[in-house]
Amino acid sequence: KKLAASIEYDFDDDELVAFAENLENIPPEILLKEEKQKKERPNNPLFKYRRGVISVSDLSAQIWCEQQLTYKFLYPFILNDDGEIKRVDDKPHMLRGTSLHLERELEIQIKVTIECKTREDSYGVRLLNMIQGIHGLLTWNKPNERYITREMPIFGNMYGGKLYFRGIIDEINFDPRTNQLEVVEFKTRASKTAPKAQQTYTHEIQVNIYRTLLDELIQGQVDKSLYFQRFNLKSTMLLSDSVTNEYNQRGFTNVETLENAFDLLVKLAFQMPTITTNGAIEYILQSDKTWKHRKEFERDERHLEELIIKSEPFWLATRQPQGVDIEDAYKCQWCDYKDICTWREEKSNEFSRKKRRLN
Ligand code: SF4
Repeated sequence: KKLAASIEYDFDDDELVAFAENLENIPPEILLKEEKQKKERPNNPLFKYRRGVISVSDLSAQIWCEQQLTYKFLYPFILNDDGEIKRVDDKPHMLRGTSLHLERELEIQIKVTIECKTREDSYGVRLLNMIQGIHGLLTWNKPNERYITREMPIFGNMYGGKLYFRGIIDEINFDPRTNQLEVVEFKTRASKTAPKAQQTYTHEIQVNIYRTLLDELIQGQVDKSLYFQRFNLKSTMLLSDSVTNEYNQRGFTNVETLENAFDLLVKLAFQMPTITTNGAIEYILQSDKTWKHRKEFERDERHLEELIIKSEPFWLATRQPQGVDIEDAYKCQWCDYKDICTWREEKSNEFSRKKRRLN
């Protein structure tokens, strides 16, 4: 069994509330610094809502409906049927999906708690997760068995573009017999039916982004200074003892700063025996884990590059968000924002006008 360190350094909801309640006790100089940073940030969705780094799921959400993603930024909380205020993405089936992901991770990995005192510490742990996963593959000594690692963080600006991505790869497996590396995404289903093509499309894009980010890492095409700049990290700041001890215990000595960790990661990734050859999605039934549906597919690099080029102007605010086309109007029926959506209203008026003209 592979041991992996995994801890997030994010505020949970309670901590955020505590933070908000204590606002008046925060020294004015810190608030002024925050204000100044906000003013210096470009006024576009990429920096306004995502501080310069978007998640791979953001891109999937954008492909589903850009207008909906914009509403999620503006109105992240909704009143549910029980009259409770909830985050729009905290739906019971989504929470069930998260717990199934954790179960799958724990099938092969053990969670370890590492104390993080700074943001740099937390990113040091994220890099350790990647280092551990790749090192495990490089030292795999069972020639007839697949090597598997799960929940590995990944990042990068694909094709040297203006968007910077972060994400977590559900599974990477390596078959020493065929020298093939595969990226697998887990998705949950509410019913025992194979998903429709429109649903699998965004999932395939997600896997293909992970494959490209992983390949760029393996090929050494990662810009170190851009990583520190986009995540706003101090590359030479000393990591806390709790983090460096964790590196030492796993045999990675001489890692004292994030820069050391980043260099080690790139060095190990460069030794990988192959680039990512395959991609797959595994659908699991939420109520019965024994039901599975697996879909394997080819990578269409050109389509992915075109998609990124099309997505960029939305994030950089050089064009307005777009809602769904008329043939995808079925998406609106499940949308939390359908009653306020101006795009939907305009399209529906357009459609009525056309109909009147034809009559
Ligand atoms: Fe998009 Fe339709 Fe929702 Fe409007 S109602 S945000 S077009 S899915």
